[in-house]
Amino acid sequence: MKPAVLEELREALGPAGVIADPTRLLAYECDGLALLRQKPDVVLLPRTTEECARAMRILHREKVPVVGRGAGTGLSGGATPVEGGALIGFARMRDVLEVNVADRYARVQAGVVNVDLTLAVEKHGLFYAPDPSSQAACTIGGNVGENSGGPHCFKHGATTRHILGLVIVRDDGSVLDLSLPRPDPDGFDLVGLFVGSEGMFGLATEVTVRLVPTPPVTETFLAIFTDLDAACDAVSDSIAAHLEPSALEILDRLTIEAVEDSVFAAGYPREAEAVLLVEAEGTDVEVEATLAPMKAIAERRGAIEVRRARSATERKKLWAGRKGAFGAMGRIAPDLYVADVVVPRTKLRELVAESTRIARERRLKLANVFHAGDGNLHPNISYDRRDKDEVRRVLEASDEIMKVVVAAGGSLTGEHGVGLEKQEFMSLVFEERDLHAMCRVREAWDPGRLLNPGKLIPVHACREMRGTERPR
Ligand SMILES: Cc1cc2nc3c(=O)[nH]c(=O)nc-3n(C[C@H](O)[C@H](O)[C@H](O)COP(=O)(O)OP(=O)(O)OC[C@H]3O[C@@H](n4cnc5c(N)ncnc54)[C@H](O)[C@@H]3O)c2cc1C
Repeated sequence: MKPAVLEELREALGPAGVIADPTRLLAYECDGLALLRQKPDVVLLPRTTEECARAMRILHREKVPVVGRGAGTGLSGGATPVEGGALIGFARMRDVLEVNVADRYARVQAGVVNVDLTLAVEKHGLFYAPDPSSQAACTIGGNVGENSGGPHCFKHGATTRHILGLVIVRDDGSVLDLSLPRPDPDGFDLVGLFVGSEGMFGLATEVTVRLVPTPPVTETFLAIFTDLDAACDAVSDSIAAHLEPSALEILDRLTIEAVEDSVFAAGYPREAEAVLLVEAEGTDVEVEATLAPMKAIAERRGAIEVRRARSATERKKLWAGRKGAFGAMGRIAPDLYVADVVVPRTKLRELVAESTRIARERRLKLANVFHAGDGNLHPNISYDRRDKDEVRRVLEASDEIMKVVVAAGGSLTGEHGVGLEKQEFMSLVFEERDLHAMCRVREAWDPGRLLNPGKLIPVHACREMRGTERPR
């Protein structure tokens, strides 16, 4: 980056808002998909929408590619700056700007950490429902970028159902203010379109979110199985029975061992092949009306024990184990590849077994911990990135898993996005004309293709449309 441009950016953001030192830039070379790395040329840390807009105006004039970054916990390479350029981080935009208790919404800066939002509003008897397992680190802006899910999205719906408004800094530095919460927007639903756009339509600097009343009663139980298939079948049965607990999660034996060996130890039984974590919320009557039939289904499917959490502390522990599961897998190997696919819930058992077979045939260690109620599988492969042959086998297994899932009527991603990881697999699901339609939408927001280039849409699709990779 030209020194004069760097100087101009320092004037716009202050010296602490510009990182150009190569050693410090290393921290930004990848997100949670550590297999793919590329350092940005510069990292910019605005404090306000106006600072972000000023920086974007300079970068747009200089035709510098821009990648937005929340906490970098994404697992599909979304925040990896594949073409270098500038990375705009939201670590200095962490203010809760407004809490409107009566109208049940909050307005926050994009860098607010997910769990901090709930901590800020719980005294009002409210919470923010989407709860990715990474919620202690990931940001609301990143959640918007990926349309993130979480264990409790089974009942409450993913991020898109909870975003009421946005302030967006566009590619050219202009500001689009859609922050007024409107349940039915006048005109096109641009907020709906933006959620899940993986940083390719603009940068959200402020987010208006829906808040949900804290339920009067929350109960959690753990059903213990000696067979993973049986746990999957219990989930399929409960969906067929129209039961709606707030969360339905499965952890398999390898995951249980990793969790129990780690600081997240939750008291999961080591002898189990799988545990099913079930939570219900509402009034006493509603909770009982959900949990009693859930328990009956689990027992009919062979659960050897159903343990109900007896206190809030016990409940928190069960969830800490689930939410710490990916981290705990550091006990198995130094690196973890977290796949993210969705399967029809009637085919849970079949596709869990297929992923296990695919990994076993390639001598890989695969653990399952997943949002079972949503059919959102996470086959997690532990590996060591220094072993090139193992890396090759991991990638091969992940390709194969995506193919069998799509062939079975599933989809490429449940919540982690397409990013860099699954870009070329989009052609498994979409025809060329569909991909071209996506390119057109993208170009309506960002005609210069400077925002998060090289993500989501397969490279060939956009090139064919314009005859070039990017108009310069
Ligand atoms: C241990 C672990 C557990 C996880 N569990 C879950 C889970 O349960 N559910 C789930 O959905 N995900 C989960 N994830 C994935 C990840 O945490 C989510 O995708 C999360 O939303 C990313 O937030 P972030 O702030 O880290 O965003 P980043 O990774 O920094 O960015 C994600 C994407 O959003 C874009 N972006 C970031 N900020 C903005 C902004 N302000 N405006 C526009 N675009 C932006 C980026 O360019 C990128 O494309 C998990 C990850 C880990 C490491």
